[in-house]
Amino acid sequence: MRRAEPFRIKMVEPIKLISREEREKALIEAGYNPFSLKAEDVYIDLLTDSGTGAMSDNQWAGLMLGDESYAGSRNYYNLAKVVKEIFDYNFTIPTHQGRGAEQVLFPLIIKKGQYVLGNMHFDTTKAHIEIAGGRAVNLVTEKAFDTTTPYDFKGDFDIERLEAFIKEKGAENCAFILITITCNSAGGQPVSMANIRQVSEIGKKYGIRVFMDAARFAENAYFIKKREKGYEGSSISKIIREMFSYTEGFTMSAKKDALVNIGGLLCFKDDEALFNQCRSMLVPMEGFPTYGGLAGRDMEALARGLGEGIEEEYLEYRIEQVAYLGRRLTDAGVPIQSPTGGHAVFVDAKKMLPHIPGYQFPAQSLANELYLEAGVRGVEIGSFLLGRDPETGKQCESPLELLRLTIPRRTYTNNHMDIVADALIAIKQRAHTLKGYEFTYEPKILRHFTARLKPIE
Ligand SMILES: *Cc1c(COP(=O)(O)O)cnc(C)c1O
Repeated sequence: MRRAEPFRIKMVEPIKLISREEREKALIEAGYNPFSLKAEDVYIDLLTDSGTGAMSDNQWAGLMLGDESYAGSRNYYNLAKVVKEIFDYNFTIPTHQGRGAEQVLFPLIIKKGQYVLGNMHFDTTKAHIEIAGGRAVNLVTEKAFDTTTPYDFKGDFDIERLEAFIKEKGAENCAFILITITCNSAGGQPVSMANIRQVSEIGKKYGIRVFMDAARFAENAYFIKKREKGYEGSSISKIIREMFSYTEGFTMSAKKDALVNIGGLLCFKDDEALFNQCRSMLVPMEGFPTYGGLAGRDMEALARGLGEGIEEEYLEYRIEQVAYLGRRLTDAGVPIQSPTGGHAVFVDAKKMLPHIPGYQFPAQSLANELYLEAGVRGVEIGSFLLGRDPETGKQCESPLELLRLTIPRRTYTNNHMDIVADALIAIKQRAHTLKGYEFTYEPKILRHFTARLKPIE
């Protein structure tokens, strides 16, 4: 039987659609950059799924049980117990969010000039690899770049390229392998169990450690259950345990699948020595090892969120909502990355606006039009985000020009998804009238957050 959302709504947060005129004014004030909009001027906010989900009554109740002791908070021990149950990992370190775990771990395991091999590194992850003196290498399957041809596991490593890279550069020049599940930068695309196993075998063969970047571990497990032969009958818990049996540790942004607004984790299966090294580094960077930058109450919400995030009925609802938006768009001929991944729908702006060249930012143009049309905020993932070559100063050409519609967890209903779909379908009819953009202000570093633009007349 078809099922509705596996929750009912106990508390609501009003949102408002301001008038078309007000939206036009707000967008001009924001320099045609949705990052600079006031959130209150946004009707449906699909900027990110990070920290934007709704906590449950059980998590809110947990907040009241926060033990704010500086050392040895009971919420820390509860969190470590949940990590042991879910992942079968023995050592838990809380951090303020995912990048907190990265900044503590990476300098300890990267020697200057070493490579860190990933399917596709997340941007803060890449930044922390580079700050630690390492070089981030992406070895995701070529299939990830072909938006129209469906493939079940577009987050997979290209195993041949991985092994060839290690042989060419030498295992001693590879710091570690990092498997990002799901592969955020490739569109929330999952990594198969077979691929995780193969990566782990290569790690063993060459003596290179393997870690997970585990922000969307539960969504990845759900995809394995639904798409990978041999796992149809397995429980999500069992799949997660197997996934994590192939790696020796993980960093995690808990703001995604762990269903909290703030928090992160750094955990190890059994490497007590590395755990102790990380705990020492944690003190000056994040906080004492039993709170790591979080309040006791936040650790309690996180412990409870981890458990809720792996419930199968929840995951089915979650993935199905993303797929629903994807289906509505596909049915109307709006081109998207297919199949849809775990946390977002990616509209292919290169295909939708072929008259706007990459250096005039077609996906940014689409993001702005979507805001004007319906007060919906998406985010450009393309040339505008990519920026310039640091040596030549030339605009880099992005292989994909995507508008990311990121769905917060348990936050919007399918009525909201319909508003988004209807708006994009309406825009498709007049796509040829949309204009490209040029800079009126372009910061040197991470320009996409604060840059200002204007339409090219
Ligand atoms: C969000 C994210 C991070 C960084 O975590 P923060 O909590 O934002 O610091 C790292 N890796 C992946 C794959 C992510 O999605």
